[in-house]
Amino acid sequence: MDRKKVLICVATFLLIAAGVSLAQEEGRVVTIGDIKALPGQTVSGFLKVAGGKFPDAKIPISIINGSQSGPVLALIAGVHPYEYPPIEALIRVRAQLDPQKLKGTVLLVHIANLQAFQKRIIYYNPYDWLNLNRVFPGDPEGSISLRIAHTITKEIITRCDYLIDLHCGDGNEALIPYSYWSKGGNSEVDAASKKLVEAFGIYPIIESPRPQDPEATVYVDNTAIQMGKPAFTTESGQLGILDEESVQLLLRGIDNVLKYLNMIEGKVKDFGQPAYIKKFEVIRSNHDGLFYPLIKRGYFVQKGQPIGYITDYFGKKLETILSPFTGQILYIIATPPANKGEPLVEVGEY
Ligand SMILES: [Zn+2]
Repeated sequence: MDRKKVLICVATFLLIAAGVSLAQEEGRVVTIGDIKALPGQTVSGFLKVAGGKFPDAKIPISIINGSQSGPVLALIAGVHPYEYPPIEALIRVRAQLDPQKLKGTVLLVHIANLQAFQKRIIYYNPYDWLNLNRVFPGDPEGSISLRIAHTITKEIITRCDYLIDLHCGDGNEALIPYSYWSKGGNSEVDAASKKLVEAFGIYPIIESPRPQDPEATVYVDNTAIQMGKPAFTTESGQLGILDEESVQLLLRGIDNVLKYLNMIEGKVKDFGQPAYIKKFEVIRSNHDGLFYPLIKRGYFVQKGQPIGYITDYFGKKLETILSPFTGQILYIIATPPANKGEPLVEVGEY
């Protein structure tokens, strides 16, 4: 071959190679709304939610698109936006997870309920007063919480292969760290969710049956589960405090799940035999008034033991709350407001 022919051959080869890699790259571009991440890129932006007669909402998200192919893991924080350690944990994941070393894609929903975050509100959205984690899969024509839920379902949950919904004790809840093994009725998916929640390593794990109607999944994790995707909910942190220990527990779990799913290099940690809670009960208030806890989070209580009491707004005792069975206090309300129908305490039995 003369020199000219060699040059033509080399040029042709380079063009073909470039074409192939471009095609591969195009196939792995992740686009959500108007946010587009090429392989090896981390890109952030907002999902827009048209509010109808409610104020429009927006959801801050990040796409961490790995340089190599692999599964899609969705991490959701701020469904209850007075729960700060999960929100901080995802900000750290965005900063620390190198897309060049990632196989697959991590989708971060930084603050699902931004309107409530901005107003510093526990449980509820300030415009329709609904709990976002009770209205999934949502409705594009519904009130604002349903519209936010619908956007997360459509843009995030349908795109992922695995999902973790990260919570903690809300602004009023003293809580020990724990996770929910959410069971949606499909034994294969339930078994995969169990392995995933065990790999996360926040124990104890509460066995929690979820509704099996795909039209009324209610919870974030169950929306994924009813689509056949392993998912779970975890809790680390409490009382509106942003503490490093709770953040680190979540980061340790996320890191280990990424290793377990072979999305990053490294040995999967073994956190030992998980403790399972087979039975749990959330006790709700029968009155409006003030709640006075008599015990703390993590305490073990006997059946019938007083857990706390409620008074009216003038100090008259209305009700003493007794433990329904012998077990551990998973969370307990640690600020005064008690509202009829709202949770006071969750007790778990091992
Ligand atoms: Zn929560």
